[in-house]
Amino acid sequence: MKIYSTEKSLRQRLFRPHILRGGFLFLFTLVICFSAGKTFLLLRKADVLYPSGGLSRISHLSAYSPALENSPGDTPIYIFQGEEEGANVLILGGTHPNEPAGFITSVLLTENLKVKRGKVFIVPQANHSGFSHNDPFEANPQRFPLQTPQGKRWFRYGSRLTNPIHQWPDPILYANPAGQMLAGTESRNLNRNYPGREKGNLTERIAWGFQRLIAQEKIDLALDLHEAAPEYPVVNAIVFHERGGELAAWTLMELQMQDLVFRLEESPRTLRGLSHREWGDSGGIPAFLFETANVSHGRLKGKPSADLIVSGKDKNYVRAARMGRLFVPFDENGIPLRLRVARHLAAFQALTGSWNELFPEKPLELHNLPPFEQVRDQGIGLFLHAPD
Ligand SMILES: [Zn+2]
Repeated sequence: MKIYSTEKSLRQRLFRPHILRGGFLFLFTLVICFSAGKTFLLLRKADVLYPSGGLSRISHLSAYSPALENSPGDTPIYIFQGEEEGANVLILGGTHPNEPAGFITSVLLTENLKVKRGKVFIVPQANHSGFSHNDPFEANPQRFPLQTPQGKRWFRYGSRLTNPIHQWPDPILYANPAGQMLAGTESRNLNRNYPGREKGNLTERIAWGFQRLIAQEKIDLALDLHEAAPEYPVVNAIVFHERGGELAAWTLMELQMQDLVFRLEESPRTLRGLSHREWGDSGGIPAFLFETANVSHGRLKGKPSADLIVSGKDKNYVRAARMGRLFVPFDENGIPLRLRVARHLAAFQALTGSWNELFPEKPLELHNLPPFEQVRDQGIGLFLHAPD
């Protein structure tokens, strides 16, 4: 009798309403944590690329910055060596993994390019760690699809900064390797960390790797592909180091002949740590950065979504354009990813054409580049390898 009454009181205690409520909330929290954790882990799954038959070999950034070996900052480098000697070119996509036109342009090049003269190094995910997370409080999707004739391929949409799991904590103020004082979070922004530090934090080691690559591989011309919000003044722009001033002017003329409007921006001499400044200053080469206008990057956008990234359509931006608040034309058709990628490709082609005019002793002969009109009108997927 005594045992029975104890059991009964235990049961009674367990089934009290507040215990039940607590238990339910605990289980609910577990389910949320589990499903959120599963989604977060998906961002660690690498994007699969299918290099063209013109690929000579794949190297890694750790070959130039050994401190990156087995770290989340190491990233593949796709090397296309021509049959004949010529200029050596470096192309970076994914310096900022939330600027998909830069990343996807370098994917298109990797999956199509053939080189006859010269040597091209392509790095689609320059900040590899930045692809493994996305920005808190932004509600951005983790991936976006591109339609190929054989089905959809998905690509990650990461963060502007290195993953804090890989580099933490941020200092309050950050003195970058070029001596510029910046906000602490900028210690995780690859495009503020040049020329890098051999044994510095993860982002500095990544920057150091690219700076070493430029020196060791005798790079003649380097290019960093980006995007920015339409309300930011430097969009549809070619930013150039003064060593590439003449080349930039030729490129602009070449683009104007195709009715493509770009603006030229000289790399500010006092803003230190950026790719176009330090590659030019320390590397001694003409360095360029291209910017397209991306609404999913902007502060005026409506609901973030994978469709917004790909279609580039947003009513708020149509309104902002009517109010004269943007630095690019913008209407109901938006600025789709295919147009942004096509512009990067056209600018790259104009740059290499101008290079050949100015430096015929170091030629660059590239084949199989996706043409501007076809990418703009028929889409990126036409030039992507089929999904598995
Ligand atoms: Zn950027």
